[in-house]
Amino acid sequence: MTTTTTLDVVIVGAGFSGLYMLHKMRGLGFTARVYEAGGGVGGTWYWNRYPGARVDIESHEYSYSFSPELEDDWVWTERYAAQPELLKYLNHVADRFDLRRDIQFDTRVQAAHFDETAGRWTVTTDGGETISARFCVMAIGCLSVTKEVDLPGAETFQGAAYHTGHWPHEGVDFSGLRVGVIGTGSSAIQSIPQIAKQAAHLTVFQRTANYSVPAHNAPADPEVLAHWKANRAELRAQARLSPTGFLSWDPSEALAVEATEEERQAVFEDRWRRGGFAMGGAYADTLADMTANGYAAAFVADKIRALVADPATAEKLIPKSYPFATKRLCVDIDYHVTYNRPNVSLVDLREEPIETITATGVRTAAGDYAFDAIVYAIGFDAMTGPLGRIDIRGRGGLALKDKWAEGPRTYLGLMVAGFPNLFLVTGPGSPSVLSNMVVSIEQHVDWISDCVAYLHNRQLAVMEATEEAEAGWVAHVNESADATLYVQANSWYLGANIPGKPRVFMPYVAGVGVYRETCDAVAAKGYEGFALSPTPG
Ligand code: FAD
Ligand code: NAP
Repeated sequence: MTTTTTLDVVIVGAGFSGLYMLHKMRGLGFTARVYEAGGGVGGTWYWNRYPGARVDIESHEYSYSFSPELEDDWVWTERYAAQPELLKYLNHVADRFDLRRDIQFDTRVQAAHFDETAGRWTVTTDGGETISARFCVMAIGCLSVTKEVDLPGAETFQGAAYHTGHWPHEGVDFSGLRVGVIGTGSSAIQSIPQIAKQAAHLTVFQRTANYSVPAHNAPADPEVLAHWKANRAELRAQARLSPTGFLSWDPSEALAVEATEEERQAVFEDRWRRGGFAMGGAYADTLADMTANGYAAAFVADKIRALVADPATAEKLIPKSYPFATKRLCVDIDYHVTYNRPNVSLVDLREEPIETITATGVRTAAGDYAFDAIVYAIGFDAMTGPLGRIDIRGRGGLALKDKWAEGPRTYLGLMVAGFPNLFLVTGPGSPSVLSNMVVSIEQHVDWISDCVAYLHNRQLAVMEATEEAEAGWVAHVNESADATLYVQANSWYLGANIPGKPRVFMPYVAGVGVYRETCDAVAAKGYEGFALSPTPG
């Protein structure tokens, strides 16, 4: 006999989003429980344990801001924390707020169906459990489903094969091995310098060269941390209203097209020296004007030429097929100089495409490469991928994947018409992956919590985005993206990395601060654009 667990709120996922959501729901007095496919908390930082994995935003900014006590009792050891420290932090959060007793690990949610009569969600798991809840929160992450290896012959490889997105917990020792890395996105760019230090030989297979800027990582600077602590409330408030959700982007209002060449060089040099995403904020027109963008691209190209000893390798590493910063910038430690090592070589797949994976390695149009291990750093089925893996059905049994067959449709990236009381954290149509995600996550969790409390206090049974509001928001999200250079890159933001995925720009580009104000205004007007009803029907 199957028993049904009855809750006010069912939360799927125990990363940054799910942990904070649980804490908030408990604080409001609701019964809530988290279901997590992994064996522990952490989400991204639980699964992505590849060598070199670390944050791309300074740690004191990429951390929760909801609890001053938590902020006081956690001190980051590095400017950019590595995965083990991030995982330790999230475990600390789970312990500090006693969250584990309401998290069920090793449990994958398979389906979520809305019962129109009861006005409740029925959620089922791979363990055969059934949960009935008034509200369902999908805190399942934007980058939690890895892209499947789509190369022929992959199953025939006799050596060890790894995907950066679900790395073995015990780690991998590449000492003395011939290793091939496929991909040159952020995961590859972080892991390549580390694998190169161990491997007998490392061959990198690059299809698209990517823009990467130096992190200039270092032990956390006590002065920076002290300044942050002393001014935290104000700095956090600034970050929340900024375009990207973190301050080191430091957006300039100056236009590159109006600056002299000398001025531009000085600005770019300063930003490069600061490290990380500072390069992205150098000029206000970088993401809007191709000429302006070309200045930043040319500056990075010159840096690559200066860093990489072999001119032919340097030319291959210079991105040429998309505008600067229209994919999330990679933030690296010693990436380009790694190609100066005698045990590292680069294969340009534009010159010699992969034909097949073989029993012994990789065969390209130019010949065979033999490996003991292959690392697939090939990315994720981003944003819609994790939602698409769950059989989500709203009113009239409508499947979310059918509704989204031509691309995701949401109102504010938070809710979907026809799917009452279902909330998405950092869903498509919100700034999400374009931002400091912890800031975006906190904003969504706070907004959802306020909304649930509002409904409860007014004895309203259901809340649902109207078709009209959703259509208006989708059009606005598309128009905003179309006004930028973002749409000119074949990025995962557009689903371009997954064959057959609709080409729709998924995140909202107008900025974290603007978006927050829009969400707050919607709530202040009694949840404008949503239908609120005392009865489920
Ligand atoms: P996740 O951390 O992805 O957690 C979602 C959880 O939901 C996962 O544990 C997953 O197992 C679980 N789940 C999914 N589907 C189901 C299901 N059906 N049933 C049960 N459980 C399910 N962002 C930044 O802002 N800065 C960074 O530096 C940064 N670095 C990153 C590095 C890597 C390698 C990756 C992949 C992403 C990075 N991101 C970064 C984005 C990162 O995903 C977010 O910052 C943040 O960790 C997301 O938290 P989350 O809780 O929303 O999702
Ligand atoms: P990604 O950016 O999608 O990169 C995947 C790489 O694999 C690309 O170079 C891609 O080439 C290549 N690839 C995919 N399929 C291939 C194939 N069949 N043959 C050859 N090459 C193939 O994925 P990611 O590096 O995992 O990063 C995803 C996102 O996660 C990032 O954008 C970022 O948001 C986040 N992340 C952040 C950090 C960090 O710095 N903190 C680290 C890792 C990830 P093409 O470009 O040609 O498709």
